[in-house]
Amino acid sequence: MVDRYQVVVAGGGPGGTVLARDLARAGVGVVVFENGDETEACHNWSDAVEKNALEAAGFDLPTMGPDGYEGPLVKKDELDANLFEPHVMKQLQIRAPDLSGRTRNDVDFRYITTDRVVLNRLLRQQAVDAGARIVYGHRVDGLLGNTGAALGDVVVEGMRVTEGQSEQTFDVGADVTVDATGYRAALRTGLQGASPINRPFSKGDLAVVHRTVRRLDMDRADEDDLTDHYRYGAYRGYFWTHRHHADVIDVGGGVKDAPGRVDPRAIVEEMIRQRPSIRAETLRGGGGTVLVGRSPYSLAASGFLAVGDAAGQVIPTTGCGVGGALVGGMLAARTIANALEAGNTHIDGLWPYNRMWFGGPGRGRHFAALAALKEILQDLSHGELAFLMRKDILSGEMLTPSINGLFETPDLKATLMTLIRGISRPGLLLKLNRATTMGRKIFCHYSQYPEKWDPQAFRRWVRKADKLFARVVSEA
Ligand SMILES: Cc1cc2nc3c(=O)[nH]c(=O)nc-3n(C[C@H](O)[C@H](O)[C@H](O)COP(=O)(O)OP(=O)(O)OC[C@H]3O[C@@H](n4cnc5c(N)ncnc54)[C@H](O)[C@@H]3O)c2cc1C
Repeated sequence: MVDRYQVVVAGGGPGGTVLARDLARAGVGVVVFENGDETEACHNWSDAVEKNALEAAGFDLPTMGPDGYEGPLVKKDELDANLFEPHVMKQLQIRAPDLSGRTRNDVDFRYITTDRVVLNRLLRQQAVDAGARIVYGHRVDGLLGNTGAALGDVVVEGMRVTEGQSEQTFDVGADVTVDATGYRAALRTGLQGASPINRPFSKGDLAVVHRTVRRLDMDRADEDDLTDHYRYGAYRGYFWTHRHHADVIDVGGGVKDAPGRVDPRAIVEEMIRQRPSIRAETLRGGGGTVLVGRSPYSLAASGFLAVGDAAGQVIPTTGCGVGGALVGGMLAARTIANALEAGNTHIDGLWPYNRMWFGGPGRGRHFAALAALKEILQDLSHGELAFLMRKDILSGEMLTPSINGLFETPDLKATLMTLIRGISRPGLLLKLNRATTMGRKIFCHYSQYPEKWDPQAFRRWVRKADKLFARVVSEA
């Protein structure tokens, strides 16, 4: 064993760094091992990130001025290395997947477009300023301790790390080890005997995304359709155009990673061909894999937590995971600091993290219910989705919560309106009803997530969750 820390983290993305920052601020000795180097910070574009998560993480949200967002963290132009794009998405337009019609323009989009390179840089700087160590160019290969046992008997004692250039391997011991390695969950999936925590994400949990940020030819921009919009449900995913600045636009989309899927890049290129004012040169952009699946049932074991994408803390209906990683990282830091103070980093000492994430009022129960909703509805055809939008059954009011990561069931009035509007397609209404019913059952089940680590109570909870998700698969 070369070194020993109170907490050792694998992965220096938003989840790992916010966790390290908050732990260091609480006086905990923490080190992060990051595979990449200091300069290559994730992808080079701007993402839609939940405003409430950024605010909770301590970032001052900009105010709204006549020409967009204003404030010290707002970019002045495309080349300005600042945190937020100035563009305000006032009215998010949701278009039908077959472009046959559109819902009302009243989706309340609670996100702000955030530069990911700058966000990573700021979070890493804040972590280091607080006293955390970040070691770049080091790959974490696996966990130390009793890692092959059932969940209650797992004891994680640290991690094995390889220095990228020399390929020299060494062990780092810790009271708590955290997997923040992103959707591949390099450490969590190695807990081979602990099925409630080790579930790897499969292809069905992933989406393939492509986006490109381009300049506009302003002499021709008025002739093109450049309205901010999401084409929701298209090709089992969604596509968008989103203006960052008056003369810069982001065009992108993603689809479920399943056999026979379309290449999102081809659809994005088609969208660009239809808008001649979009110039050929790409300023930023690229592609990647986005997690749209659900969490394993536990994110904690003795001496171990998972955070961010590695924990499935992603809105399954949009693939937005930065907000989840920030909130997950902050909850994990609070839990670990309390556990260290109490001198109990066993599973029962770390269990409050599970409870805060999955149980009320956590995000996890919303995300689990949305995952079920998505699973059942994602195979609807373009025509079926267009019908639901045309009839205002999938209205702005209905779509707003699910786009913002909240599961809400329609009230009686909305249910009756749905029945009246959709009377000509009873099969479709039945499917919609099954999806919301399963979502509601899963939401209620997660609201009763065990408050304390009790192996028997947890086993009972897992059995029921398994049954509910098996029904989701059979309904889909
Ligand atoms: C194309 C695309 C578009 C997206 N758009 C959005 C969006 O609009 N809004 C949004 O909220 N989210 C979006 N996401 C998802 C978002 O990027 C993730 O949800 C978020 O980055 C998760 O943060 P994280 O800290 O959990 O993991 P990551 O950001 O993936 O960070 C994990 C870190 O761990 C490191 N690592 C991995 N394995 C190891 C190892 N073995 N040893 C050491 N280090 C390791 C990686 O180098 C990386 O730095 C998008 C993703 C993609 C690919």
